[in-house]
Amino acid sequence: MQLQEYISLRPYNTFGIDVAATSFLEINDISDLEGIEADTKKLIIGGGNNLLLTKPVDALVLHNKLKGITVEKENDTHIWLRVAAGEIWHELVLYVVNKGWGGVENLALIPGTVGAAPIQNIGAYGTEIRETIDSVTFWYWSEKKLLSFSNRECEFGYRDSIFKNQMRDKFFITSVVLKLDKVPKLNTSYGAIEQELAHMGVTEPTVKAVAYAVIHIRTDKLPDPAQIGNAGSFFKNPSLSKSSFDKLLAMYPKIPFYPVNDSWIKVPAAWLIEQCGWKGYRIGDVGVHTKQALVLVNYGHAHGQEIWDLSGKIVQSVHERFGIQLEREVQVW
Ligand code: FAD
Ligand code: NAP
Repeated sequence: MQLQEYISLRPYNTFGIDVAATSFLEINDISDLEGIEADTKKLIIGGGNNLLLTKPVDALVLHNKLKGITVEKENDTHIWLRVAAGEIWHELVLYVVNKGWGGVENLALIPGTVGAAPIQNIGAYGTEIRETIDSVTFWYWSEKKLLSFSNRECEFGYRDSIFKNQMRDKFFITSVVLKLDKVPKLNTSYGAIEQELAHMGVTEPTVKAVAYAVIHIRTDKLPDPAQIGNAGSFFKNPSLSKSSFDKLLAMYPKIPFYPVNDSWIKVPAAWLIEQCGWKGYRIGDVGVHTKQALVLVNYGHAHGQEIWDLSGKIVQSVHERFGIQLEREVQVW
């Protein structure tokens, strides 16, 4: 596709924020990246599900449309799939579970592209993409060539990776290799999965049944960006040291918590935000979702800056009440 100028990015971000981009280029082939200079200011967009645009984008927007799935190798127990970065994550999950391969079934219905998945190490229902990623291939702007990182080199953490840190703005992910199980080990212990499987009448779960249980739960619980502008969880769940958590528990005995390991405890950010009275809050077209306090929403024509300002007020009030500093998960321009 030809370079387009001064187009609205409203269709390209799930908050539905209407800002203009100076220039916009669809990436359909790796060769489309070759002529772009390392020092050109750019914004890469996949599905725009994790983006908050607070101002006009005075940069070259690269819309990732790289497609294709190929088998790299396989043995009796595993299959390695190379998936182009512009493939839609949920469509890939459906393809994989229909083959009966395991590893991504708990990550069904996460919106977005395959290329964005390793950046924040997408996770849900007790599974993270880092458990399945074999390697990530990217166009490295400064050397104008493709490089690959092994799973270990990606430095995955909770909703985090090297791509959000040292590598920030230095790459365009072109494909991901997933190592999938031919003999799946199911993880149904999280939340309502087992309850939903029972409701579905499933007595011997398969990867496909688990994926559909997750799809049913998510469809009931999470706001659909097609109905109401949002970018999923706006904040990460904070992890506290055991000593800080014990002090908090003494003050708030009803606080929900999940041990991460012997030293760290995860506290749901949604609970903290709800306790501060934000759930269902609305001012103009900006608000906090009525059913899910982690999700900030655009009821129509909100500006990105208004959403950013509301997020700042939430961070401040949670800090004042609990002494906990919330971190934003959404990527901000
Ligand atoms: P975008 O929003 O387009 O981009 C996100 C960031 O990655 C941006 O900084 C962008 O510049 C960069 N980027 C994107 N593609 C590339 C590339 N090819 N190369 C280099 N940089 C790139 N997340 C979870 O982890 N778990 C969930 O359960 C979950 N549920 C969600 C539910 C809803 C309703 C919504 C709206 C979001 C949810 N998210 C969840 C967040 C989101 O789905 C993920 O972050 C997803 O990976 C974003 O994909 P995307 O293609 O839309 O990325
Ligand atoms: P939920 O199941 O109501 O749980 C609330 C929070 O408690 C979650 O954030 C979750 O942390 C934590 N939690 C619940 N059960 C847990 C367990 N058994 N072990 C460890 N932690 C547990 O959350 P929800 O809002 O309906 O979302 C369901 C899943 O989808 C969650 O995994 C959530 O992360 C994911 N999701 C993510 C986004 C996003 O944009 N990032 C948006 C929607 C949903 P974790 O978040 O660490 O799992």
